[in-house]
Amino acid sequence: MPGERILIVEDNAKNLKLIRDVLQYHGYTILEATTGEEGVALALAQRPALVLMDVQLPGMDGRTALQTLKANPHTRHIPVVALTAFAMKGDRERLLADGFDGYMSKPIAIKEVAQSVAQYLQGASMDESSPQPH
Ligand code: MN
Repeated sequence: MPGERILIVEDNAKNLKLIRDVLQYHGYTILEATTGEEGVALALAQRPALVLMDVQLPGMDGRTALQTLKANPHTRHIPVVALTAFAMKGDRERLLADGFDGYMSKPIAIKEVAQSVAQYLQGASMDESSPQPH
């Protein structure tokens, strides 16, 4: 939904700008961090609707930042999508097993970013809604 806050944690300036520009164009409010520590602090302070998390970061890496967010009751409900250049078979399964809610591979496909983000946001709001009668 336009206006929702999305946190991008990415140390590569080019990737960060690309994703930010696409999502801003689609009306999202962008928060950005270039280290895992900064990302965790921003997520706690701002409670974004979604986090896009680079896996390879200087200092605290993406997996550790993810675990930190998922261990905190204030941030554990926020979906965290891995951004990774790894494209080897089995990487997706490994990232999901690590606890990431999804996966976007780099180089980022501009046409798919907004669509993927919308899907992850929709999935998150469905998780939070009250149980549907069966
Ligand atoms: Mn990186």
